[in-house]
Amino acid sequence: MTNTSIKSLIRTIPDYPKKGIMFRDITTLFADAEGLREVIDSIAGEFQDKNIDVIAGIEARGFIIGPAVALALGVGFVPIRKRGKLPAETIEVEYELEYGSDVIEMHIDAIKPGQRVLVMDDLIATGGTALAALDLIEKAGGETIGCAFIIDLPDIGGAQRIRDRGVDVFHLVEFE
Ligand code: IMP
Repeated sequence: MTNTSIKSLIRTIPDYPKKGIMFRDITTLFADAEGLREVIDSIAGEFQDKNIDVIAGIEARGFIIGPAVALALGVGFVPIRKRGKLPAETIEVEYELEYGSDVIEMHIDAIKPGQRVLVMDDLIATGGTALAALDLIEKAGGETIGCAFIIDLPDIGGAQRIRDRGVDVFHLVEFE
């Protein structure tokens, strides 16, 4: 399966969640057995020789692909969540949104100092969420080796912001 066929399995919903936004919906891609396998195999293939110790997935769609890639690489999975969802002691990072700010959290003991981490989410736009995840992993003493997304919106420039931090970015498809 080519990246063009992966792209054709992603559904676009105009004006969701608000007017003017083209929402890229990956549920249609995940519902397709071949599409799902291709996504997981491509990401796992890209990082199989990079000595990843653990995958950190960002809520919520990073929870769908993250554990599947973790199984393929034979490593563990750690959730990065919105504030107030994790039961044990956490560390947190606040980040800016278009209007206001948000907070993401991770369990304080989820990543051990020195561990090599792969960050995963479905889509990167401004990079604000992923950069906050990099800060969290750094706070925990981990080293982010790469970030993997299904979709990059290159015009918005988030992936470049991650690369400027010296972290590899991998994606399968792009949308304007
Ligand atoms: P960023 O922080 O601006 O890079 O936005 C990325 C975050 O917003 C990710 O957690 C995505 O899941 C979510 N997101 C933004 N736009 C879309 C979309 O069109 N489809 C799916 N998720 C999106």
